Amino acid sequence: MRHIAVIGSGPAGYYTAEACQKQFGEDVRVDILDRLPVPFGLIRSGVAPDHQSIKGVSRRYEAVALTDNVRFVGNVSVGQDVTIDELRERYDAVVLATGAPLDRPLEIPGADLPGVVGSAAFVGWYNGHPDHADLAPPLLGKGAVVIGNGNVALDVARVLAKSEAEFEGADIVAHALEALGRSQIETVTLLGRRGPHQIAMTPKELGELGDLARATPVVDPADLPPPEDDAVLEPGQRKSVNHLRSFAARGTDPAKPVHIVFDFFAMPVAIEGDGRVERVIVERTALDLDGRARGTGETYVIPAALVVSCIGYRTPPIPGIPYDDRAGRFANDEGRILPGLYAVGWARRGPTGTIGTNRPDGFAIVEKIAGDLGEGSGKPGRPALDALLADRRVEVVTFRDWQKIDTAEIAAARSGAPREKFISVEAMLGTAKS
Ligand code: NAP
Repeated sequence: MRHIAVIGSGPAGYYTAEACQKQFGEDVRVDILDRLPVPFGLIRSGVAPDHQSIKGVSRRYEAVALTDNVRFVGNVSVGQDVTIDELRERYDAVVLATGAPLDRPLEIPGADLPGVVGSAAFVGWYNGHPDHADLAPPLLGKGAVVIGNGNVALDVARVLAKSEAEFEGADIVAHALEALGRSQIETVTLLGRRGPHQIAMTPKELGELGDLARATPVVDPADLPPPEDDAVLEPGQRKSVNHLRSFAARGTDPAKPVHIVFDFFAMPVAIEGDGRVERVIVERTALDLDGRARGTGETYVIPAALVVSCIGYRTPPIPGIPYDDRAGRFANDEGRILPGLYAVGWARRGPTGTIGTNRPDGFAIVEKIAGDLGEGSGKPGRPALDALLADRRVEVVTFRDWQKIDTAEIAAARSGAPREKFISVEAMLGTAKS
């Protein structure tokens, strides 16, 4: 028997558990620990609430969770309730699938002004993550600036621009829907420090901006390279750039009061305001031969009451675990960190790729674990963890407990309200243990 502890119940964690089942069959016990009483990590609190089809993948994780050899151990904070070393003493392998929940810092003057928020906080706010439910982003100014040209920046711009009716069927939390309903934002400026060919936006997601009820994407045709230059792009990127070309050709729609402005070759250099953000100072850029953005010295001002920085994420370090500070993730050799300790998903490779990228990642790490472990090392696994947590009076939430939370949330949605989520750990625990 092999005993494996996976820390983090997001996509990387569940794909690792699925891979363990495929690799070891009945000869494995996997415990998936999470500090929250609810599973699925980014699926619940990162994927945009209006992208329900992406969230549907959690049904696949549920099938894994409901087997006998995989267990969800929620409401257990590693580092607080139990240490990594204690887990390593009890399990044959410990896999860090902790994702990258921290924002990469925006290192420009004024980045700490009220009204400047990171995407982890903003996305967590509209998705009801307990850490960010109280964010209250300022939505009553006319301008918002979204920094970055990736899919997260797209999610944030779209959520800011959508009408209330367009969230029909979404699981956006009521406090965010209500605040967005009162939003006065008329212009969402997407700042890209490089150009249209360098965007990190996938075509399906970018295309959605062309079909919004009250918002129109604005692209300056002068920013677009000659069409024949698109030939060098890989097909997906070419499709994305085609969307930008069609937005540029279409121009603005006078019937739509909200503009999502793509400002390319635009690098934020400072954020200013009297006690809160009022404007972003932007420097025009040009691309070096190696494709990097270089400031040209020309600056201009964009008025904004809200700035959302969507420039990537970091994995929180754990004291004593080797960490690559530059990359913002655990230092590892193809997933191996220390004997018996592994990383997978964003904690291994950094915040790149789609949800599905984590599946081969999970399978690859389990292959390495299988090679390293052989027949197992005779460690006790589950019973030893249970004894430790009972001793420390940790209130563990099981997958069946989580299903009560899920049922209660769905019932709230059926009552006609937006699909409300529990946003405090206390409320989650109360329902789980009712
Ligand atoms: P990302 O794809 O890495 O994009 C980050 C963006 O921030 C890039 O445009 C980058 O520009 C820019 N940036 C970085 N540092 C900056 C700075 N100091 N100043 C200005 N701009 C800066 O990251 P992400 O959008 O956070 O997404 C993370 C991952 O999740 C990606 O793989 C993404 O595809 C995935 N995701 C997928 C979906 C979906 O499929 N629906 C939704 C959300 C997220 P440079 O290119 O110039 O560095």
